[in-house]
Amino acid sequence: MENKKYTVKCPGCGADVEVTRPVIINVQNDPEYKIKVLTGSLFNEKCPNCGQGLQIVSRIAYHDMDKHLLVYFRPITSQEELKTFDYEGIRSAIEDNFTTPNYAIRVVTTVNELMEKIKIAEFGLNDGVIEIAKFVYFDIFTKQFPDIGVMNIYYERRDDKDALIFFCNDGHTRSIFIAPDVYNAIKKRFDVVVNAIYTSRVCMVGRDWALRMIRAYSKRDSENQASVTDAKPEFKLVDSDN
Ligand SMILES: [Zn+2]
Repeated sequence: MENKKYTVKCPGCGADVEVTRPVIINVQNDPEYKIKVLTGSLFNEKCPNCGQGLQIVSRIAYHDMDKHLLVYFRPITSQEELKTFDYEGIRSAIEDNFTTPNYAIRVVTTVNELMEKIKIAEFGLNDGVIEIAKFVYFDIFTKQFPDIGVMNIYYERRDDKDALIFFCNDGHTRSIFIAPDVYNAIKKRFDVVVNAIYTSRVCMVGRDWALRMIRAYSKRDSENQASVTDAKPEFKLVDSDN
């Protein structure tokens, strides 16, 4: 495994903390690293000088040959990194070097997105469908809870079912199961675009992507729009069992 050394300053005591991280994780060769990414332990360190816990994120290419998944984690942790983030450069570099067909190749910028992509692939789901489903359930959520803001929504597997976890600005976390009917209706309606992201094209499939697709489709056929929101959803508070 190819490793790289990083040095960061401990915000607690100012000591230089040196960590060694893999640059490429191949899950078939190093299965334990899948667990380390999914639990977040890969990015959690302790300052050897003062003992403070530190989250230190580092670039990783995560490759799972069985799931046909390749995720490039390019962390953005500051305004400076956001300004210099060169998605087109990353995209062409990957596409020049990786030619295996039928892969989901993603670029993500946060640990949560990295974990989410791995979980979605684990359960055989299409991440484009999941991103669009977030909008469907967000609409339902805002009708039920018009005064509560939602900061983030992530896919999670709960009780052997597919769920979305809503991180809300009232300090609570709420979950809702993704109805198979809703999932399948989205998959059918958006079939062209959700299949296209599994053809080894490099994509950022997140909120912006889903919004672009929803807008493009609602322009194309406005009469079918209501069909995916016929679910009878139930939101549950999940704070207590976290
Ligand atoms: Zn320290």
